[in-house]
Amino acid sequence: MEPRVNLDSPALAVPKRIQPLFAPGTGKDQALVIFVLGGPGAGKGTQCSNLVRDYGFKHLSAGDLLREEQEREGSEFGEMIKTYIKEGKIVPQEVTIQLLENAMKATIEETGNRKFLIDGFPRKMDQAIKFEQTVVPSKFTLFFDCPEKTMRERLLIRGQTSGRADDNEESIKKRFTTFVETSMPVVNMFDKEQRVVKVDAARSPETVYEDVVKQFAAQGLEFMQK
Ligand code: ADP
Ligand code: AMP
Repeated sequence: MEPRVNLDSPALAVPKRIQPLFAPGTGKDQALVIFVLGGPGAGKGTQCSNLVRDYGFKHLSAGDLLREEQEREGSEFGEMIKTYIKEGKIVPQEVTIQLLENAMKATIEETGNRKFLIDGFPRKMDQAIKFEQTVVPSKFTLFFDCPEKTMRERLLIRGQTSGRADDNEESIKKRFTTFVETSMPVVNMFDKEQRVVKVDAARSPETVYEDVVKQFAAQGLEFMQK
C-alpha cells in the first residue's frame, strides 16, 4: 500500500496562481527551463554535467532533490519518499514541484542564474501540466533514447558504488515499468507538440554529447562565452 501524504501540509501551501510564476526567458521575472528525460540509466546526469560546464545551466535533478528531502532532519515527507523511490514509483507532484520551485527561487536569489536543466522531470502527465501552468512553460524537452538492456547494464555497474537503494535488479525492473507506463506518455505528448529534442543515448558519452551540442545549436543555444 502506498504511504499517505498529507497534502494539506503547510509545507505544500502554494498560493493559487492565475499565471505561471515565471515567463520563459532569462530576464527579470523570467526563467529558462529545459526538461531532461530518458529512462533510468540513460545518462541524463552525465550529460547534464557537460551542459552545466559549457552552457552555464543550473542542474536540478528531481531525484537528487527528493533524496535530499528524504535525508533532511525533521522532514515530514522522508518516509514517504523513501518508499516511493525503493518501489520506483512517482512521488506525488505536490511534493516534487514544490521542491523544484524552491530550488529555482533559491538559485535565482543566490546566484542570479535563471537557466535550468530540470532532470528526471516531468515523469507523469499531472506534474508536466501543473509545472507548466504554475511555474514556467519549458523551452523544450531533451530526451535521451536508450534500449532497456543498455540502461540495465549501466545501472547495475552504477549500483556497485552508488549506494542507492534503487540500483538493484528488483527496483530497476519496477523503474522501467514506471518509465514505460507513466513517463513515456509525457515524452510522447511533448513530441506531438514538436517540443522534443531526441538524442540516441546508446553511444559513448562523448558521441552523445557531440550530438546534444549540435541539437542545442539548432535550437539557438550556443556555448557560454568563457
Ligand atoms: P541517469 O541520470 O539517466 O540515471 P547517469 O548519467 O547516472 O544516468 O548514468 C548511469 C550510469 O551509466 C552511470 O554510472 C554513468 O557513468 C554511466 N553512463 C552514462 N552515460 C553513459 C554512456 N553513454 N555510455 C556508458 N555509460 C554511461
Ligand atoms: P532518479 O534519481 O532520476 O533515477 O530518480 C529516482 C527516483 O526518485 C524515481 O524512481 C522516483 O521514485 C523518484 N523521482 C524522481 N524524479 C521524480 C519525479 N519527477 N516525480 C516523482 N518522483 C520522482
